[in-house]
Amino acid sequence: MNVLNMLKAETMDVPSRSYIEDLLKADLWELGRRAYEIRTRLYGDLATFIPNMVLNYTNVCVVGCSFCAFYRPPRHPEAYAYSVEEAVKRVLAVDAKYGIRQVLIQGGVNPEIGIEYFEELFRAIKAKAPHIAIHALSPLEVEYLARRERATYREVLERLKAAGMESMPGGGGEILVDDVRKIIAPKKIDSDTWLRIMEEAHRAGIPSSATMMYGHVETPSDIAEHMYKIARLHAKTGGFMAFIAWNFEPGTSELGRKIPYPKTSATLLRMVAVARIVFNGLIPHIQAGWLTTGPETAQLALYFGADDFGGTLYEEKVLEWVRAEAPIDRKTDVVNIIRDAGFRPAERDNLYRIAAYY
Ligand code: SF4
Repeated sequence: MNVLNMLKAETMDVPSRSYIEDLLKADLWELGRRAYEIRTRLYGDLATFIPNMVLNYTNVCVVGCSFCAFYRPPRHPEAYAYSVEEAVKRVLAVDAKYGIRQVLIQGGVNPEIGIEYFEELFRAIKAKAPHIAIHALSPLEVEYLARRERATYREVLERLKAAGMESMPGGGGEILVDDVRKIIAPKKIDSDTWLRIMEEAHRAGIPSSATMMYGHVETPSDIAEHMYKIARLHAKTGGFMAFIAWNFEPGTSELGRKIPYPKTSATLLRMVAVARIVFNGLIPHIQAGWLTTGPETAQLALYFGADDFGGTLYEEKVLEWVRAEAPIDRKTDVVNIIRDAGFRPAERDNLYRIAAYY
């Protein structure tokens, strides 16, 4: 029987790995048609976005993933770390210029930075700009802080939450299969640790995103395993707000020298469509993710099951080398891109509540 004829029922059921793997091989147009049906039933012609900025507070990192062209080792001439004052100044400057609802705070694992830095930073942002939600750190940074503080994951998360952290991005998930992680990021936390910290965050009342970085050494079976693990955790906690698939961009990274060209838009559309079908009845939002594959592919992704365009991502640095020039400079650009694709733009907040229609 055609796998698409066995569409998962809209329950909290977790699909099997083999079902997901079969979906990954299904006809792209058929996948897109099914995914579009689901997104239209849930959201009509709405496509949401959030005016946000990315605060890459440091590029120092001792993890050294082979796919990452952003990090610099400690004491490297290009290494930087913002002081709390400088970081807050940047956030306030972007807010004054564009008006933002969220700051996505991410960096590397910098041994010079402890939990007090984040507590101070989050409190300072909330004191000066309480309307900006703090979407910060990743399981990797939480694990590092727990080791540094000799504290439990829960204690670290509770402290960060008390300082103003509202939600957590899904950074560091890449592919949640240890054989893959050993190749692309051997020093990064393993899959179980990533999942355990996400579970703790959800139980502490910190919702999060789930991400996937594909297009390197993984197989369809690894992708199926990744989606299965995320679906299974969500069925337990209900804590994932959105799923975001990123294309690996070879760029100047070490891994990039072994992967000559990136996957194309067709692969991103396949991932988005499969995610919408797999997470149907589980994770509510699927992001189009314009940053790596560009706004045109993100427009198409809205027809392949995505309902959220993501953020305006002012100041993003991790992938700036991928973009010859920033294709999106203002909120009106995102509104126009969504509208040009044939959807109705809606601005959302950090928790995906609609704040304004356009
Ligand atoms: S991806 Fe993150 S953890 Fe890995 S090297 Fe880059 S900054 Fe460090």
